[in-house]
Amino acid sequence: MSTVAEKKSIKGGEFIVRETEYQEVFIPEEFSEEQKMMAQACQDFIDTEIHPNVERIDSMKEPDLVPSIFKKAGELGLLGISVPEQYGGMGMSFNTSMLIADIIGAAGSFSTTYGAHTGIGTLPILYYGTEEQKEKYLPKLATGQWAACYCLTEPDAGSDANSGKTKAVLSKDGSHYKITGQKMWISNAGFADLFIVFAKIEDDKNLTAFIVEKSFGGISMGEEEKKLGIKGSSTRQVFFNDCEVPVENMLSDRQNGFKIAVNILNIGRVKLGAGVLGGCRTVTSQAIQYANERKQFGTAIANFGAIKGKLAEMATRIFVTESLDYRAGQNIEDKINDLIADGMDDAQAKLKGVEQFAIECAISKIHSSEVLDYVVDEGVQVYGGMGFSQDAPMERAYRDSRIARIYEGTNEINRMLMVGMLLKRAMKGELDIYAPAMDVSKELTSVPTFSSIDKSVLFAEEKEVIKNLKKVFLMVGGKAAMALQDKIEDEQEVMMNLADILIETYAVESAMLRTEKLISLRDEEACADYVAMTKIYMQRAINIINAAAKEAIASFTKGDEQKVMLMGLKRFTKIDLVDVKSLRRQVADTMIKEGKFPYYFG
Ligand SMILES: Cc1cc2nc3c(=O)[nH]c(=O)nc-3n(C[C@H](O)[C@H](O)[C@H](O)COP(=O)(O)OP(=O)(O)OC[C@H]3O[C@@H](n4cnc5c(N)ncnc54)[C@H](O)[C@@H]3O)c2cc1C
Repeated sequence: MSTVAEKKSIKGGEFIVRETEYQEVFIPEEFSEEQKMMAQACQDFIDTEIHPNVERIDSMKEPDLVPSIFKKAGELGLLGISVPEQYGGMGMSFNTSMLIADIIGAAGSFSTTYGAHTGIGTLPILYYGTEEQKEKYLPKLATGQWAACYCLTEPDAGSDANSGKTKAVLSKDGSHYKITGQKMWISNAGFADLFIVFAKIEDDKNLTAFIVEKSFGGISMGEEEKKLGIKGSSTRQVFFNDCEVPVENMLSDRQNGFKIAVNILNIGRVKLGAGVLGGCRTVTSQAIQYANERKQFGTAIANFGAIKGKLAEMATRIFVTESLDYRAGQNIEDKINDLIADGMDDAQAKLKGVEQFAIECAISKIHSSEVLDYVVDEGVQVYGGMGFSQDAPMERAYRDSRIARIYEGTNEINRMLMVGMLLKRAMKGELDIYAPAMDVSKELTSVPTFSSIDKSVLFAEEKEVIKNLKKVFLMVGGKAAMALQDKIEDEQEVMMNLADILIETYAVESAMLRTEKLISLRDEEACADYVAMTKIYMQRAINIINAAAKEAIASFTKGDEQKVMLMGLKRFTKIDLVDVKSLRRQVADTMIKEGKFPYYFG
C-alpha cells in the first residue's frame, strides 16, 4: 500500500494554476527496455503484415485479408495490451497501451481497426462488465478470436449522441430485450462478432448499453462506406431489427449508457492522441528522404531554406505533441495507481483516473490530430507534384489523417467540452481557479513590477512566460465567466478561444519540461535540438494565444476594461525576439544528415 507521501498523482486540469517541475513529468525517453521491446514487436508486426499489404488492405477486394491480419495481431498479444492477464490479456500499464497505440499509428487504415477493437469495442466490457460478462467475452476479444465494434452514432445522432432513437424493448417474459434501430459509421462492423450497442429503453432520457453477439440474429449491414481515407478499415451502417439480447447482456445499469460512452471516449481520445504519432514520424522520415533525393536547380531540395523550415516545423510539432501525450498518459497512470492503492478496484480506478484527466485527454486528441494534419499537408508539399500522386506515400497519408479531427468527438466538441469542464470544476470548488484569477485581476490594475530574469539560465525567460500564459487564460477566462455568466457556453467562439489558450499552454509547457528532463538525463549539448524545438514552439504558442485572447477580449469587453486587458495581454505574452529561422535550420540540418526523423525515443 502506498502512503499519502508516496502519492504521485495530481488533479486533472490543475496545470493551468500550478507550476510543474520537470521531475514530475514522464517523458517517452523513460520507457523501460521491456516497454521498448513490446513497441519493437509491434513495429515488426507492422513492417511484415501491414506495410507490404497497404494497397491490398485499402482496396477491400479481399474480405478475409484484414480479419486475418487482425487475428495475427491477436496471436502476438497486441489486442490484449490493456486487458488483465486473468482475462487472457497482457495487463500492461496505461502508458504502455499509449506506446502501442503510437506505434500502430503508422499502420494507416489498420490503426482504426485496431483502435475500434481494443478501445471502444473492448473497454466498455472491461470497465463496466459484470464478472460473468468479463469472463465470457474478454478472453475472446483479447486474443482476437472475436472482433468488436461500438455502435453509438446514428444518422440523426452524431455529436449529440444521447439523442439516438434506437430502442430496446423488454420481452413480456422479461428474459430479453428486442433492439431495433439504425447505427451509422460503425468501424469494424463488416467483420465484427460482438457489438457494443447503445439504445433507449421506453422513454428513458439516457441511453443504455448492451453487449450484442452477432449470433443473436436480427442484425444486417449496409454496404462498406466509400470514404475519403482509411479505406481499408471497415465502416458500415448496422441495422438492428428485433435483435434479441438476453437481459444479462445489459452493460452496467439502465440509463448508464451515455456515461459509459463519454468515459470510454475519454480513453479513446488520449489513445488517439498517441495513435497519430507513428504516422507523423513515418511521414516526416519519408519527407526528409525525398527532400534529400529530389534535385531541383542543381541541388537537393533539402538544401532550400523553405524546405528546411517545413521539415523542422514538422519535427517540432511532433516533439511537442509526443511530450504532452505521454505526460497526460502518465498522469492518468499515477492517478489509477493511487486509487488502487486506496482500495478501489482495478476497473473502477482506471475509469476514475481517466475521468479526472478528461481535460488533458481532449487536449491530447485535438493537438495531436491537428499536428498530424499539419505534418501530412507539409509532407505533400515537400513531395511537390509527387505528393499528389497515388504512386507516392503522401497521397494516402493525407487522406487517412483527416478522420482524426472528426471521430472520438469532433475537435470543436472537444474544445468546448474541455473549457466547460474546467469551469464546472471551478464552480464545484474541485479546482481553485477563482483565487488565482482574482490575483491576476488585481495584477492588471496594479503598477507592474518587473522581476529581473537571468536570461543566461536555460529557459529562465520561457518559464516566466509560461507562468504568464497561464495568467492569460485566467484573465480572459475569468472575465468571460463574469461577463457572460451562464451564457458562456452559448458563446462558442469564446469557448474555442479559451480552449486554444489552454491547449497551447499545456503544449509548450510539456515540451519545455521534457527538454529540461532530457538535459538532466543527458547533457545540454546533446539536447541542443530539443532546446531549439522548445524555443521554436514557444513563439508559435505565444502567437496563437495572443490571437485567441484578442479575439475573445474584443468580443465581450469595451472601453477602459478592454484597454486594461489588452495591456495585460501584451505584458503576459512578452518574450525576447528569437531567431526562429536559425533554430529551424539547426533542427533541419540534423534531420537531413540523419535522413530520417531523428528524435524517436525508442
Ligand atoms: C470513418 C469513421 C469511423 C467512425 N467510427 C465510429 C464507430 O466505430 N462508432 C461510432 O459510434 N461512431 C463512429 N463514427 C462516427 C463519429 O464519431 C461521428 O462522425 C462524429 O462524432 C461526428 O458526428 P456527425 O458525423 O454526426 O457530425 P455532426 O455531429 O453532424 O457534426 C457536424 C459538424 O458540426 C459540428 N457540431 C456539432 N454539434 C455542435 C455543437 N453543439 N456546437 C458546435 N459545433 C457542433 C461538428 O463539430 C462538426 O464540425 C465514425 C465516423 C467516421 C467518419
